[in-house]
Amino acid sequence: MKIHALTLFPGMFDSFVSHSIIKRALESKKVSITAHNLRDWSQDKHKTCDDKPFGGGPGMLMKPEPIFEAYDALFGKKKSKDFRFIYVSAQGKRFDHQKAKELASCKEIAFLCGHYEGVDQRVVDELVTDEISIGDYVLTGGELPAMVIIDAVVRLLPGVVGCAQSTEFESFTQNLLEYPQYTRPAVYRGLKVPALLLSGNHQKIKEWQKSEALKRTFERRPDLLNLKTKKGK
Ligand code: SAM
Repeated sequence: MKIHALTLFPGMFDSFVSHSIIKRALESKKVSITAHNLRDWSQDKHKTCDDKPFGGGPGMLMKPEPIFEAYDALFGKKKSKDFRFIYVSAQGKRFDHQKAKELASCKEIAFLCGHYEGVDQRVVDELVTDEISIGDYVLTGGELPAMVIIDAVVRLLPGVVGCAQSTEFESFTQNLLEYPQYTRPAVYRGLKVPALLLSGNHQKIKEWQKSEALKRTFERRPDLLNLKTKKGK
């Protein structure tokens, strides 16, 4: 899978691509991630990418020209279903596991990282296929939201996470939160791991995990259980 980020701050991606699962996914060529500096497509000597909004209002907006120019140079006339040009925006549809799965099935995705007050609306109207928010709050720029989404998508690609089962049975994959988990030591500061988990009875342990997942979901995210009931109809 090919992933691009169009940004004014490509350096923000340096650390992200240099650690852990993302780094290994890049090394094993399961994915490529390229941060493109939008200033490379700016048309004046100061590399300006922002301007005042028409009609007044606070702050600056990202100008359309560098974004259109970058799009043409990098993606040309790509319009296939396999390609997505995503504007990360507080005004977009809320990101979730289903969206991560949908994006993981694409061959190539690109993120437009906004800054200042956002981007000229013509960019959104003409180029953007998906407008995605990572939550109901406003961040300074789209780089962190793009990295959040990339991380969630890349770990769903086949072979990226060591044990496929660890993504198959994670929170949200089956509209359930994951059950509580413990590791050694079995007793720490007097705190004991549930005895059943040490019993070696795999059938009983599976049942316990399922009921704990249900209990946790019911207590913390009952909306997920409703979703399951509706889907089952
Ligand atoms: N004026 C915009 C508004 O009221 O919706 C907020 C602009 S914000 C300061 C700058 C950029 O950060 C946005 O263009 C967007 O790319 C990104 N951004 C901010 N919050 C976000 C969120 N919750 N999800 C995704 N992107 C976000």
